[in-house]
Amino acid sequence: MSHTAELIAVGTELLLGDIANTNAQMLSQGLSQLGINVYYHTVVGDNPRRLRQAVEIAKGRADILITTGGLGPTYDDLTKLVLAECFGKELIHHAPSEERIRARFAAMGHEMTENNLQQAMLPEGCTVLDNDWGTAPGAAFFAQGTHVILLPGPPMECENMFRHRALPYLQALSEGVIASRTVKTFGIGESAAEALLRPLMNRLENPTLAPYAKPTGTELRITARAETEAEALERIAPVEEEVKAILGDKVIGVDVNSIQEVCLSLLQERGLTLGTAESCTGGMMASLMTDLPGASKVFRGGVVSYHEGVKAQVLGVPEEMLAQYGAVSPQVAEAMARGAKKLLGCDLAVSATGVAGPDPDERGNPVGLVFLGLAWEDQCIVQEFRAGNVARERVRRMSAQRGLDLVRRHLTGLL
Ligand code: ATP
Ligand code: MG
Repeated sequence: MSHTAELIAVGTELLLGDIANTNAQMLSQGLSQLGINVYYHTVVGDNPRRLRQAVEIAKGRADILITTGGLGPTYDDLTKLVLAECFGKELIHHAPSEERIRARFAAMGHEMTENNLQQAMLPEGCTVLDNDWGTAPGAAFFAQGTHVILLPGPPMECENMFRHRALPYLQALSEGVIASRTVKTFGIGESAAEALLRPLMNRLENPTLAPYAKPTGTELRITARAETEAEALERIAPVEEEVKAILGDKVIGVDVNSIQEVCLSLLQERGLTLGTAESCTGGMMASLMTDLPGASKVFRGGVVSYHEGVKAQVLGVPEEMLAQYGAVSPQVAEAMARGAKKLLGCDLAVSATGVAGPDPDERGNPVGLVFLGLAWEDQCIVQEFRAGNVARERVRRMSAQRGLDLVRRHLTGLL
């Protein structure tokens, strides 16, 4: 049987819009990876009556209820009290939790006020979820047909308590284990990927296949349930191959996060170095690469040649070429890449020059027109990329990723 979970976030500051409900996002992602359906998110303020109402509604339509927030020591921290009441339980003192709370205060050298002991009051018969990341313990119990899990509000505590305390509890509820693999793509949107994969998705039951749009590229998650992890992975393998065959060169890897990560490992494997020459992307390609630990071994450096004078004087792009074709041209993209390769002494150099917008350039080139160059040995290729008339930030980000995709395609023999 597949489980249905509902999340209730408690906190007036969420309703006021002071903070976003990031805990719900994190929990929903984690639960969907377990194959647990989440159908509702509710946010209620620090108000016992409205929290009670929300719990009563959730009880009727979900078999797993997870709350976040309101476990602390202050007056408005009412989650435990209300949940215990709704499920007909008493709050009772839990001595080991009191000890942990006292020890935590002692370790920090802080005076503990008496109200902190409230945090050691927990629903009778619950599984106490020890909190190694803060003071308030969480709790899990089964009552009236519902599994209830109470997690603290601060996002760092909530996430650790979910991963290390709630997950084992939830995994024990599901029969067997769940494993998943994520096929990462680049250069194909979620709807286009789904259109290609729909027949396969319709045919599948275990594993399941689902697309997710991410700023770094569409992901296809394959999730299987089986008695052992090895069996689940065995079920996933043929589907993974099928997805790869359908999406072809759009697939950049499996269980990888981004195009830059793929570039970094390809460069490392081959012992090659990379440099950049960037106009419209203003250093984004260099920034994406240097975000990654280990980049210093393969990334040589980059030139932000925004001004024509810099393209000419630093990268050696001929002034006549700039005058004749303009900075946004395949000729200049090629000269920038070749110039950067020479200047930086790298094996590969990638360049980008284009119109980020919001207006067309003085030669009438449209917003989103970008030329990307890649130089290696004594060769160079240039690709035209049209991001379309989208926001400046988007043109720049997509172009930077496209530039790195050129590196990936070259290194995997796709060009
Ligand atoms: P504490 O012991 O800190 O009081 P708590 O479990 O009582 O923890 P809250 O008091 O409800 O939790 O929230 C503590 C802080 O955590 C809030 O000020 C807020 O910044 C953050 N927080 C609470 N709920 C969420 C949420 N759903 N998403 C993101 N942040 C949250
Ligand atoms: Mg609190």
